[in-house]
Amino acid sequence: MKDISQADIQNNIPLVTRKDIDREVKAGDVIIGGKELTIMAGPCTVESKNHIFETAKAVKDAGANMLRGGVFKPLTFPYGDPLGQPDADSDEPPADRMKILSKYELFKAAEKRFAYYKEAGEKYGLPVISEIIYAESIEMMSKYVDMFQIGYRHMFNMDLIEALSKTDKPILIKRHYGESLRSLLGVAEHFEARGKHNFAFCERGVTVPHTHNVDSRAVLDIQAIPAFKEYAPSVPVIIDPSHSTFKRSYVSAMSRAAIAAGADGLLIEVHPDPEHAWIDPLQAINFSNFQQLMKSIKAIHEIIR
Ligand code: PEP
Ligand code: MN
Repeated sequence: MKDISQADIQNNIPLVTRKDIDREVKAGDVIIGGKELTIMAGPCTVESKNHIFETAKAVKDAGANMLRGGVFKPLTFPYGDPLGQPDADSDEPPADRMKILSKYELFKAAEKRFAYYKEAGEKYGLPVISEIIYAESIEMMSKYVDMFQIGYRHMFNMDLIEALSKTDKPILIKRHYGESLRSLLGVAEHFEARGKHNFAFCERGVTVPHTHNVDSRAVLDIQAIPAFKEYAPSVPVIIDPSHSTFKRSYVSAMSRAAIAAGADGLLIEVHPDPEHAWIDPLQAINFSNFQQLMKSIKAIHEIIR
């Protein structure tokens, strides 16, 4: 893997590495990378209307300022798509999780969940972020979300880069766990070169050959925080302590470490009943753990800012 060289900075990533840019990354009325931490908290996936309203209230009460929630989920295996659950009004557990949906059915089910998601965000004053997978969903999603997330699997997706460059909404770009900082800066430069500047980076762990957590694919790269700040000082850095650890009992400690290391915020999975989360049940934290965590990260942020 190549390090970032002076020649790279001059020829390959001159725009994203500029020091003289006043980059404003704003989702709704939340400024990301400003004086306040940006805490994007919520479930892996929007399970039902009640589920997202209950979670939005809890994270808002604890001090989060944005709501996270996936609707289009990039699943490792094809059979667990929450959009296969026909009705977002129902609180029943998913009946048929083996269903493969057509694009039409997928978008229809997604739009219903996005509508509840937006409603929950508006009710509690939380701008919402959600992952985009299909470039053709951009128009529909734009009606509902305040910020787009590019998941690690889509970091290099040129259709998404093209489509998202044309929106005014901000983007959170996740680094793939097997990709270098240099590669992520390259993706950011693709946006910059198209005139799109309001994006933030998300660090969600890197692959290591062996880790004590056998379930995990990744280990949180805390060192990426000062490295991003060194190379691209104007780009906010958000840490995802949930997908990087894959383990609930590590999430609070890694969140505190991230804030202490200078991260601008967190993208964190919180669920009313984490063990029964439809997706990623091993890593979500419950409301009371999130409340405690918010107290400690605010205290840490006070000390270092
Ligand atoms: C997510 O944040 O919902 C997600 C799926 O993340 P990642 O792309 O990091 O797996
Ligand atoms: Mn998840």
